[in-house]
Amino acid sequence: MPASLQLAGYVTLPTALGTLLLVLALYMALELAHRAQNPKTRNERNAWLMAGAAAATCGILSAQVLNLVNVLGPSGVGFHAGLTLFTVLATLLLSAVAARWSFIADAGPPRALIGGAAFAAAALTGQALLVLSLGLLPDIQWNAAGLVLGWLVMAAGFAWALHRLPPRPDGAGFGFCRPQLVSSAMAAAAALIGQSLSVASASLPQSSPVDDPSLLSSVTMGTVASIGVAELLLLMLLACAFESRVRGKLDAVRGAVPGDAFRDSLTKLPSRNTFEGTLSQVLRQADATGKSAVLMHVALDRFKQVNDQCGHQTGDAVLKSVARRLRDLAPPHRAARLGGDEFLVLVDGDDAPDRAKTLAAAILEAMAQPCTVDGRELHVSCSIGMATYPQHGAQSVLITHAAVATRASKAGGGAAYSVFDPRMVNDVRDQAELLNDLRLALSHHQLELYYQPKIHAPSGQVTAAEALLRWHHPRRGMVSPSVFIPIAERSGLINALGAWVIDEACKQARIWRDQGLRMRVAVNLSAQQLRQADLPAHIAAALAKHQINPDLLTCEITESVAMEDTEATLRFFTDLAAVGVHISIDDFGSGYSSLAYLRKLPATELKIDRGFVLDLENSEGARKIAEAVVNLAQALNMKVVAEGEETDGQYQILRRLGYDQVQGFLFAKPMTATALALWASGCEGPRSIQFRESLFQETAMMAA
Ligand code: C2E
Ligand code: MG
Ligand code: MG
Repeated sequence: MPASLQLAGYVTLPTALGTLLLVLALYMALELAHRAQNPKTRNERNAWLMAGAAAATCGILSAQVLNLVNVLGPSGVGFHAGLTLFTVLATLLLSAVAARWSFIADAGPPRALIGGAAFAAAALTGQALLVLSLGLLPDIQWNAAGLVLGWLVMAAGFAWALHRLPPRPDGAGFGFCRPQLVSSAMAAAAALIGQSLSVASASLPQSSPVDDPSLLSSVTMGTVASIGVAELLLLMLLACAFESRVRGKLDAVRGAVPGDAFRDSLTKLPSRNTFEGTLSQVLRQADATGKSAVLMHVALDRFKQVNDQCGHQTGDAVLKSVARRLRDLAPPHRAARLGGDEFLVLVDGDDAPDRAKTLAAAILEAMAQPCTVDGRELHVSCSIGMATYPQHGAQSVLITHAAVATRASKAGGGAAYSVFDPRMVNDVRDQAELLNDLRLALSHHQLELYYQPKIHAPSGQVTAAEALLRWHHPRRGMVSPSVFIPIAERSGLINALGAWVIDEACKQARIWRDQGLRMRVAVNLSAQQLRQADLPAHIAAALAKHQINPDLLTCEITESVAMEDTEATLRFFTDLAAVGVHISIDDFGSGYSSLAYLRKLPATELKIDRGFVLDLENSEGARKIAEAVVNLAQALNMKVVAEGEETDGQYQILRRLGYDQVQGFLFAKPMTATALALWASGCEGPRSIQFRESLFQETAMMAA
């Protein structure tokens, strides 16, 4: 009887063991197929695919070897080592192709069929090569019909199992799954029948004892195919169980973190931690290839205003919209949210610096488009800073340096990009140092109010003085308010400084009044102070404390700040006017005024920006604007002031145009309160100007 026929009739220990291992291996392969369906990265998917292919290969070859040993008898076969190794590799390769094709979520019947056919081809190739490795050529005669039939049966079995592969939710644990066992048992049965058919299609000669020592004996092969494969499969099983456990714990930790620690919960962009992982990887690659990478730091301009004026929900919607635009423009997986209104974008590969600049320009253009939130159009621009690796530092400082460059963009007015320059760090250090010193300035009595006279333009008499803050820095000397006021605003220190200024100015007004000088005093209020709802009450308290009529105080608020058309700003102005103080719109013409809104403001004075005064003598345009401002002020029933006169020509033009007051170096620079009193009384300084009671009759009436 031919050896091949014996197979159908007997179930021996090797065949039973082979069957068991095949079922286990196919169960493992299906298990790994599930894992390949929900990978986090492409590398992870490839690893699961290869492991699944290896499990299938182990099962298929082990069953075949044990069958052959069973068919040909324990002493009658010897396997050629090289060819056997080739068999393993060829089967593994074909199985990997089959797995790649079919181990995907929602694989439809066509994919399952092709995958099944490919697995069957792998099994058949393995079978044929194993038979060839027995060295029985040229005596083997193959029957093509039998081979095709065997392949068809196996293909059907594998395809059925693959098609029944149920989708499994991401993160599902490892455990016994009965349908999976049924599928693997069915596929194993088909594989065994296919094997029998293909072995039967080969007319194998009767086995004869092998005494070639270079061949692997059937005992060795049987041992490897049974014990070796069983151990390998068991190891895989344990590894899968372990991996599931670790993944479950990780998921639990992730779940415990609010939102997702790996993604920003609002914008769904990668979080800072995740991005830093990508950054390390990209910078390592840059090291290896000698190329550079550019880190871009994107921060929204005046985003706080959006939050303050439109509410946090609108702010969140704007952030989401910005994130979407960045994701669309940035290379895949290269945009992240750093926190607040700050984002990061990474550009690597060829010509990274040039591509980063093009991308920055595209981002600025995209941000120029308004965000529509609840049918309302919001304009939010952004500033971008770029730091290049490795030129601008190692990973640890790259984000900081990009952010420093962003600050430079913001300092220039925003809606721009800047490339990092080491000199920028010095600026930032300088600012940080100044802020530290400024914190001590009040308690160390380094602050002083200087006063610059405001002159009644037609008569040339002094009517008021603007209080301008000065900082006597112990090392730097006199620091300009245009340097330290913005620092104080950013840090919140302005509220304390502002309160001190108000109290000090009221105190000085009392002293002058006691000396018989009738002068209105003006103080400057910053944007931050306007957000202090209790500031009008605080001003009222300071006036009461020093017994000053509110009419003697003017609050100057810059046009850009005053024109923030919000309910809160209007409420603040109304409260302030209710205290009885005068309100002046400072630097008028430097911002964008809405005339309709201006009409609503209870302001009593417009102070034209110094820039127009500077050009008065040379520019017809500046003259026309200066004239228009007078007309506007008169139409709105406001007084009009011009600041910054340095020449008599400018002063004469302003007088002709009908300006009520002038304030410039032509008359006097800001000076200490004592110096102003001396200068005004003619004892000191180039000009002696008489005090005029006031432009406002009420002031004259209240002279105590
Ligand atoms: P500002 O309120 O517009 O004050 C007028 C500025 O123009 C002052 O600069 C003044 O010295 C300057 N100035 C006046 N006439 C002339 C002139 O003829 N030529 C030139 N070149 N400059 C002239 P200063 O004192 O450096 O103040 C700058 C800004 O700092 C002020 O602009 C104001 O916005 C802010 N500031 C000053 N003190 C305070 C304060 O106590 N609180 C707040 N929030 N801001 C202040
Ligand atoms: Mg002012
Ligand atoms: Mg001004």
